[in-house]
Amino acid sequence: MTKVKSGDTMQLRYALNESECTACSSHLEWQLDLKDINRPRYVSYHCNYQYVIYIDNVKVDVKRVDRKKQESLENKPVKDDEPRAILIAQTKKKERQRQEKDG
Ligand SMILES: [Zn+2]
Repeated sequence: MTKVKSGDTMQLRYALNESECTACSSHLEWQLDLKDINRPRYVSYHCNYQYVIYIDNVKVDVKRVDRKKQESLENKPVKDDEPRAILIAQTKKKERQRQEKDG
């Protein structure tokens, strides 16, 4: 359990579960307050204190995902087919070279 102070930054889960009243160390019960959608927050009242967790700042994660690459990986033929494909290509090349020599 953590006594909350103004300006503390912590994980939301931790703040909601582990915060306690500064005055009496009681576990704080939080209520979601979305009245101001620009400043969504959790509020809690205890011992003449008002506690507020602002959740207007969130963490954003952007990752580049190459969908085509992913799909081709998923549809990739069984690996054993690859050497055979190369072998066929080489055989055809040899055949062509032989024909060129003979012709
Ligand atoms: Zn209290």
